[in-house]
Amino acid sequence: MSHDRLADLSRRLPELRLLTAPADLEHYGRDWTRRWTPAPLAIALPVSVEEVQAIVRWANEQAVAIVPSGGRTGLSGGAVAANGELVLSLERMQRVLGFDAVDRTLTVQAGMILQHVHDAARQHGLIYPVDFAARGSCSIGGNIATNAGGIRVIRYGNTREWIAGLKVVAGNGELLELNRGLVKNSSGYDFRQLLVGSEGTLGIVVEATLKLTDPPPPSQVMLLALPDMDALMQVFALFRARLELQAFEFFTDHALRHVLAHGAQRAIDGDHPYYVVTEFDAADERQQEAALAVFEQALEQGWVSDGVIAQSEAQAAALWRLREGITESLAPRRPYKNDIAVRVGAVPAFLHEMQALLARKYPRAEVIWFGHIGDGNLHINVLRPDDLAEAAFIEQCEHVTHLLADTLQRHGGSISAEHGIGLVKRAYLDSTRDAAEIALMRGVRKVFDPRGILNPGKLFADD
Ligand code: FAD
Repeated sequence: MSHDRLADLSRRLPELRLLTAPADLEHYGRDWTRRWTPAPLAIALPVSVEEVQAIVRWANEQAVAIVPSGGRTGLSGGAVAANGELVLSLERMQRVLGFDAVDRTLTVQAGMILQHVHDAARQHGLIYPVDFAARGSCSIGGNIATNAGGIRVIRYGNTREWIAGLKVVAGNGELLELNRGLVKNSSGYDFRQLLVGSEGTLGIVVEATLKLTDPPPPSQVMLLALPDMDALMQVFALFRARLELQAFEFFTDHALRHVLAHGAQRAIDGDHPYYVVTEFDAADERQQEAALAVFEQALEQGWVSDGVIAQSEAQAAALWRLREGITESLAPRRPYKNDIAVRVGAVPAFLHEMQALLARKYPRAEVIWFGHIGDGNLHINVLRPDDLAEAAFIEQCEHVTHLLADTLQRHGGSISAEHGIGLVKRAYLDSTRDAAEIALMRGVRKVFDPRGILNPGKLFADD
């Protein structure tokens, strides 16, 4: 059956590169979650918009599900193909299509790696400011599909803010040109923004016109050690009021131990419960003195126990590694991940409540907190104890997620801040969105993808 289908696809598109070797199915069938056994039908590697359209039309006729695939660095199982789907990888669509100096936009194919987008922008003396640790592997199409955030959101916002136009192949194979790079366009619904964060369930992004901006002024990076969460929020308020922040990221002592074991260098002696890596404008002496003054004020107030200011680019990179290395250092333990958002002001109350709850229910659980605290976005990773079987661990983690979802509902938060719902959080969508909203989401999906062939089972459990 699957052999006949692939033979038919090859007949229809003789130039299309199709992979079916077991190693390829394994490689392209999973993302960073590593919880599902990859079992795709095949991997299609189109090189043009027309090829993507033809694949989608064929999949419609044959009722074959498609999993759009970028760099597969996703943390929600969105790019997983475990049910005989056709993986449509955009990795051969990585060209820069144009730069507009007046509009300050860069148009690229959707498979382009984020780091290459950064490099291309720099060549024109500008930056594309969305940035995070997976920059060397994730694709701009995947960033758009998940509305990726990262470490500079506090200054620049999410991916959504940087999309001037999109070309998208909808579920029936039709090509949509959304917003065409316009700054102002008050002519009805903005489907471009609807596509951002749609996790491959409404259309396949094939091209994107990205806004660029001026590089930030020279900056300084500071690492702070803090005694408790309330102090951390005081420091955040102080730093945000007095400095031009570019980033404000936090992690716990527990997270630090994992990065240090993974090769990073300790920068502050002693044990401290919380740490912050912050980056701020430091273009001249005035700004540098202001940074020193707020640090001293925080120290005097007892909100900060210790701190280091990077004296060189190498030292700044080493301080950043303490934060950016966390996901990679935990990866070999295959942590169960949660990525939640609450209003920034609600962070301490939420964190205290959750930590107390977890300590009571699961005193042996190794729970690691870190994240983009300046955006109210916390990553909560749970590690499996060596003596707990995988199935029992997953059951326990699902219960932790229930507790989280419940607590989040009371705090008005979201079960996914920036990783998406995918497979991992689909059972908890209703903790963040109400029934009327979910019904509308399903209706929108039906309009864009009438036969439900785009990433079925992601976002909605019973797709
Ligand atoms: P994939 O994993 O390939 O796909 C993700 C989703 O997008 C899937 O649903 C897929 O079907 C869909 N998709 C992919 N391409 C397309 C397309 N062209 N059209 C339509 N749908 C498509 N994320 C953050 O937001 N902030 C962070 O700080 C952050 N840090 C990370 C650090 C590490 C070390 C790692 C491994 C991941 C991190 N992530 C972070 C998660 C991940 O990198 C992002 O979600 C990223 O945007 C995924 O891009 P990708 O190309 O790898 O997408």
